[in-house]
Amino acid sequence: MGNMENFTTVFIESNQLCNLNCEFCFYRDYGRMKQQLSLNFLKPIIEKFSNLEKFFITGGECTLNEDIIHIVEYLSSKGEVYIFTNGYLLDKDFTKYIELESKIYKCYLTVHECDYGRIVYRDIYDN
Ligand code: SF4
Repeated sequence: MGNMENFTTVFIESNQLCNLNCEFCFYRDYGRMKQQLSLNFLKPIIEKFSNLEKFFITGGECTLNEDIIHIVEYLSSKGEVYIFTNGYLLDKDFTKYIELESKIYKCYLTVHECDYGRIVYRDIYDN
């Protein structure tokens, strides 16, 4: 597998399940695996790469992964962690978002599926 020291950035699909079902989502065509990535599975793989410094966590909706806090905690001890979330669970699981926010470098909130009209992120944050 090439020179593992050359890799600095990794994209990690934590799970394929999602709370939405967007029309353009490619999982609609390919189906979604129900398995979730666990820290126990991920850790030995990450440990093989000595120079990783950026971790991008995608889904599905990554906040649905039951081990996401532990995964993020572990990765943030190694470098910058970025997550992509649709934000639709902010209301339901606000404490999880707050906990994640304290451990990540940046959160990308992807707004889609619904027609919100013209909004900015602050509108969502303030509500
Ligand atoms: S939020 Fe993302 S993963 Fe979920 S259905 Fe929409 S495009 Fe797919």
